[in-house]
Amino acid sequence: MLSKPAQVAQSAVGDVSIPLESRKVLFVTPEISDFVKAGGLGDVSAALPRALREAHDARVLLPGYRSVLSQCGPLVVAGQVPALGAMPEAAIARAQGRNGLPIYLLICPSLYDRPGPPYGATSGVEWEDNDLRFGLLGWAAAVIARNAIDGWRPDLLHLNDWPSGLASAYLATDRNPTPTIMTIHNLAYQGLFDHSSLHRLGLPEAFFQPEGLEFYGRLSFLKAGLFYSSYLTTVSATYAEEIMRPEFGCGMDGLLRKRAQERRLAGILNGIDESWNPASDAHLIAPFNSDNCDGRAANREQVRASFGLSRSNGPLFAIISRLVHQKGVDIAIEAAESIVEEGGQIVVTGQGEREIEDKLKELARRRPGAIGANIGYDETSSRRMYAGSDFLLMPSRFEPCGLSQMYAQRFGSLPIAHQVGGLSDTIEDGVTGFLFSAPLASGLQNGVRRAFAAFRSGGVMKRMRYAAMTRSYGWREAVKKYSGVYAKVSATRSVFVS
Ligand code: ADP
Repeated sequence: MLSKPAQVAQSAVGDVSIPLESRKVLFVTPEISDFVKAGGLGDVSAALPRALREAHDARVLLPGYRSVLSQCGPLVVAGQVPALGAMPEAAIARAQGRNGLPIYLLICPSLYDRPGPPYGATSGVEWEDNDLRFGLLGWAAAVIARNAIDGWRPDLLHLNDWPSGLASAYLATDRNPTPTIMTIHNLAYQGLFDHSSLHRLGLPEAFFQPEGLEFYGRLSFLKAGLFYSSYLTTVSATYAEEIMRPEFGCGMDGLLRKRAQERRLAGILNGIDESWNPASDAHLIAPFNSDNCDGRAANREQVRASFGLSRSNGPLFAIISRLVHQKGVDIAIEAAESIVEEGGQIVVTGQGEREIEDKLKELARRRPGAIGANIGYDETSSRRMYAGSDFLLMPSRFEPCGLSQMYAQRFGSLPIAHQVGGLSDTIEDGVTGFLFSAPLASGLQNGVRRAFAAFRSGGVMKRMRYAAMTRSYGWREAVKKYSGVYAKVSATRSVFVS
């Protein structure tokens, strides 16, 4: 039976009785856009620790993939991680990200010295030993929490998504464990492995049960994080409510309701960093700002030309996305013909599932001059698309926070998005973009109709663009809220020890 969702605890910020002291925070992540990015987590892992450093001593722990080490120059070893189960001994080296962000790299050539993106040889195909590759990330974080590195012992671990989830399990047997905060960036990726991984990861058999890290007969890294962490956060208030319901909970909704009832779950909205500024972005053909958008035209023409589109006075729609079911690109494909019939053009940059890639290529072949698709990952082109398009299509079936719609607004492209998760929390319907209620082509078409109407009445478009570009998307509010959570788990540390 569907029970009423538990109330999500408001973040601890309002709790003035807890002093917001500076903490030593180890931010554990599988990607950081300074060196390696597969999606939004890479951007957040670059921006959030930097923002946190205004209040805390935040440092990052990241696997030393080949692509990362090749960008780092000579490294100084700062510590060792002992072997455990089938995980070999590893070293920890000191590195620096942009503007001196301290980063500890986990050095283990047998697991990380491989070509390609973080999770597999190519996007969408995972390495078979990802249990060990990311088990080691959690194990190393736990070792640093226990033993310190560089004489620095973190007050807490800030974990991100399933690849770091085991850290909380490793610490769970300590008498007074270092507190762990786990941020859920996307509940749909769960890090599922066979039972046999338990021994490869050196975890006790007793942990393999539903009240632990077992998920329907398999070992789940994500569940380990959700179950054993001191506190859970996710990246928007609406997603925090949604994941407690079966339709968005990916099978974890019961556990999440329980954690919320314990007041250990909060939604904290992501921000975007200052590199997303159309007045100074070196990727753009011409700069512009909220008071003078003339420079958008040059970006628009470059985008049209690079996708082989005809000249047009109609609106330009963009999609910049991982091509996976979540993102609803199939819904946009279904609505594409009607957009073109109405006088619009569409450009798409993305990569992911083969079937969606093929459908996009086919669509572009069918509508030359009106629809262009670029299958691949291209940062420069994506920034020009935000800067040159009039609207961004985002019919995501679910969206924990979403960064693309914030980038689009900052660059003056109005998002047309499904009213779900972080999209609801970051787009003001009819003011900075258009929200529609059902993730279906008919829903998207409603949003598109409203967008065409705004485009044709130049004044409305201008007002909305200004409102979108001047909206605040900074990290300050998030840092205050995370500081509240850090204070709460530190103050109640002994309470969490069972
Ligand atoms: P998610 O993390 O689910 O992929 P987000 O909206 O949070 O979604 O973040 C996506 C990020 O990845 C944005 O910075 C977006 O611009 C970028 N991105 C996605 N696909 C591409 C691509 N093919 N080329 C360039 N950037 C892309």
